[in-house]
Amino acid sequence: MSENKIPYKIYLEEDEMPKAWYNLRADMKNKPAPLLNPGTGKPLTKEELAPIFCEELVNQELDDTTPYIDIPTEIRDFYKMYRPSPLVRAYCLEKKLGTPAKIYYKFEGNNTSGSHKLNSAIAQAYYAKKQGLKGVTTETGAGQWGTALSMACSYFDLDCKVFMVKVSYEQKPFRREVMRTYGASVVPSPSETTEVGKKILAEHPGTTGSLGCAISEAVEVATKSEGYRYVLGSVLNQVLLHQSVIGLETKIALDKYGIKPDMIIGCAGGGSNLGGLIGPFMGEKLRGEADYRIIAVEPASCPSFTRGTYAYDFCDTGMICPLAKMYTLGSSFIPSANHAGGLRFHGMSSTLSQLYHDGYMEATSVEQTSVFEAAEMFARVEGILPAPESSHAIRVAIDEALKCKETGEEKTIVFGLTGTGYFDLVAYQKYNDGEMSDYIPTDEEIAASVAKLPKVE
Ligand SMILES: *Cc1c(COP(=O)(O)O)cnc(C)c1O
Repeated sequence: MSENKIPYKIYLEEDEMPKAWYNLRADMKNKPAPLLNPGTGKPLTKEELAPIFCEELVNQELDDTTPYIDIPTEIRDFYKMYRPSPLVRAYCLEKKLGTPAKIYYKFEGNNTSGSHKLNSAIAQAYYAKKQGLKGVTTETGAGQWGTALSMACSYFDLDCKVFMVKVSYEQKPFRREVMRTYGASVVPSPSETTEVGKKILAEHPGTTGSLGCAISEAVEVATKSEGYRYVLGSVLNQVLLHQSVIGLETKIALDKYGIKPDMIIGCAGGGSNLGGLIGPFMGEKLRGEADYRIIAVEPASCPSFTRGTYAYDFCDTGMICPLAKMYTLGSSFIPSANHAGGLRFHGMSSTLSQLYHDGYMEATSVEQTSVFEAAEMFARVEGILPAPESSHAIRVAIDEALKCKETGEEKTIVFGLTGTGYFDLVAYQKYNDGEMSDYIPTDEEIAASVAKLPKVE
């Protein structure tokens, strides 16, 4: 296929969209380690997970053998409202860089929530509805996940209770109001509405909250309220499964034009967009059918892959959630103020952790200011205002394209553009005013929180 036949944006037809999600774990020889019950230290069973999560989602969480899982028609119908998402050839960025590399990005920001998180939110809401539940609870930090979930819940007429970290609730009112417009109730956390919230408020009056604390409140309400379950927007295997729609669409679009990527790049917070984007490509790699360089990009302020330890740890700061084996900085690690709210998790998906441990993928970390430099360049030439999280992938895609310029190699680069940055303008303001800082944790800080990892045999 000749070069100039490749359109600026590759859109798939509706009937070319994937009809099943791809479960990467089915092709892994070394399966990701199971979630453990923090009380007994034994793998969690279906029965133990059922009071917290929806039944079908528990099945998906524990299934590491079925390669393809059908996407129910109701979910595909919703996907059609904002998918397929475009795979864009970044011609203008290539020209700006003067690189012989070919750069493509898969853009997931074309929906009101502004990110890829809606791909899993709609699936989780669907299974909750199908089980006959009344509603779901969750936590949100800056609000991307809460926004996506509130959209999904209003579509299926489910109640949605969001515990939003108090400092964000007060300082970032925009996503909060989007959630309320879609019918969610948004509670600043910690709150007086839960036992754990009351306890935290008594111990730390005036606290502005944390994600770990909001998780604890959301789980308490889900387990104590008849007809409610708790849902989570990243890290879990089920979330990577739903996000595989990103990678499947990307692969179909590339195959249609006979394009084979050399490297695939994505930002990694809990690992869900990256796990979804690389899924089908990693599958080929695991089966020995093709080879790709796969690069996870994380903030230098929260470097779980590049400086973390591969061990069992709690997923939350409140230490009530299951133990997952992952690259972690320790659940007590508190990353410094970084504007990529979605990349501030202390751990990483256990599926991606296992793949990284086994040498199937690389990871790199980048500093905030250089991330915003990349975001600014990208916005100016490609027109999209990128989310700070997504801009981590842009940074490394640009760096790799510049290496190609030096060597003259015509590599094909694909990266995930997970969302838009309209609600992150305070971060852009800091950058534009020259007030952004690059804090990198010291070895001692990381060692101190890693020393508190739970002891697991
Ligand atoms: C939440 C978020 C991320 C990071 O989450 P993952 O689970 O690692 O994908 C990245 N980009 C955007 C826009 C987000 O909202």
